[in-house]
Amino acid sequence: MTNAKKELLAIADSCVKCGICTPHCPTYTHTQNENESPRGRIALIQAWAGGNLNVTDKLFSHIDNCLLCRACEKACPAVVPYAKLIDDFRAQTHGEKSTSISVKLVKALSESKRMRGWIKSSLKFYQQKNLQKTARFLHLPKLFGLAELERLIPNNPSTKNLETYYPALAEVKGDIGLFVGCMGELLDFETVNAAIQVLTYIGFNVHLPETQVCCGALALHEGDTETAHKLAKENQIAFANKKLDAIVTIASGCGSTLQDYVPKVIDISHFLIQTNFDFSHVLKPLDTNIRLHSPCTLKNVMKTDKSVLKLLNQIPNANISSLPETVQCCGAAGNYSLKHEKMAKTLLNELLNTVLEKPADYLVSSNIGCALHIAAGLRERGENITVVHPIVLLAKQLR
Ligand code: SF4
Ligand code: SF4
Repeated sequence: MTNAKKELLAIADSCVKCGICTPHCPTYTHTQNENESPRGRIALIQAWAGGNLNVTDKLFSHIDNCLLCRACEKACPAVVPYAKLIDDFRAQTHGEKSTSISVKLVKALSESKRMRGWIKSSLKFYQQKNLQKTARFLHLPKLFGLAELERLIPNNPSTKNLETYYPALAEVKGDIGLFVGCMGELLDFETVNAAIQVLTYIGFNVHLPETQVCCGALALHEGDTETAHKLAKENQIAFANKKLDAIVTIASGCGSTLQDYVPKVIDISHFLIQTNFDFSHVLKPLDTNIRLHSPCTLKNVMKTDKSVLKLLNQIPNANISSLPETVQCCGAAGNYSLKHEKMAKTLLNELLNTVLEKPADYLVSSNIGCALHIAAGLRERGENITVVHPIVLLAKQLR
């Protein structure tokens, strides 16, 4: 047996099969199939690593159906490192299964700055010239196997470029590195811009190292450890500046991966709460209803979701209501919605039904992947709810 397999077995053996995790698992909740539960997946990997089960499409499918939401990991009393087990299994079986064109495209985009630059200019053209409407009418995205990817494109993707340094606009409190990730500048410029605005406003010099790259989550979860390690190394070098007091992330999906290999990584809402800055005196009132969504990566991995509510509660007059704790993963889960349309839409619909139980003008989410998926779902239902990052609301209300 290889050392890698022995390591897998050691992790799998730490599971005592108590089943406490199973009710927390979205795929188990919807299928009631043990093979679609965390305990079942651990047992399958255990059997494979022990030489009692061959690699088959069925085995891959049960492992691949996992959202890696890590709700099981949070609930597990034996602290089984479930995500590591899945990532390691995928790494050891990398290349043994085929991937769709959407998944390949998103992975390539995440790794290539030049490709993102090209897409950035094309997107504006695609939307401005009514090409999007025509393409959708002719079902072209579906024809090319890109429908699930195309539906996520926001209404106003940015064509602007970012500077590498923004000086503090108040008495200097420190220096922070801002991680924008591979998709931030392309699909979530509004959030990047808002983060710079708020951080400089309260006195932080903001550095955006030009050499920063994708966090590597997509490559890692696809089993491509070579690319994931290469990206990690590049980010470690990009953020090695000792002057930086923190590396602030604006997408919890990126933050939850980046924190594994770059020190001082912190989600922006938690960072702002830690500064003890009193925003209530500098924000204009906002008479509006806000529903708060907590991404799995923020609540189960970074575990700082409570700071978002604390931060938003500082906006005068805002009526904020968190989605219930029982709400499961929205189904975005990195590139999951591109590969598992049915389960992703089932989970999305469940979440939307809960969102719509109360009136809302805004839905706030701290992860771009979730925000795009949820916004697409609301658009498709004809709902006029704006999906934004919490920092965007904060920046909008600054006096
Ligand atoms: S993963 Fe943890 S909670 Fe789930 S069955 Fe194993 S030991 Fe129990
Ligand atoms: S990570 Fe999420 S989907 Fe995967 S087994 Fe755990 S709870 Fe279920």
